[in-house]
Amino acid sequence: MAYYKYGNYLVQEQGPEFDALHSPGGQTPYSGIYRCEACGGSSVSTLGNPLPPQGHHLHNPGIGPIQWRLVTKAHWK
Ligand SMILES: [Zn+2]
Repeated sequence: MAYYKYGNYLVQEQGPEFDALHSPGGQTPYSGIYRCEACGGSSVSTLGNPLPPQGHHLHNPGIGPIQWRLVTKAHWK
């Protein structure tokens, strides 16, 4: 999960970039916070660097592999 205190620092968007699932170690499409669809954990990844790899964190058996979904996108201005 990702957390925040002041909602006025966030802007809701409806873009398809928030629906795509990404493989561990794949290209980071946007700098921001990514959520693991299997366990709900979150991590930061930045444009130009790979998404966290499969071994980033361990899952209990049966919940499947890590898949990353963009939760919040960082943007300059
Ligand atoms: Zn996970």
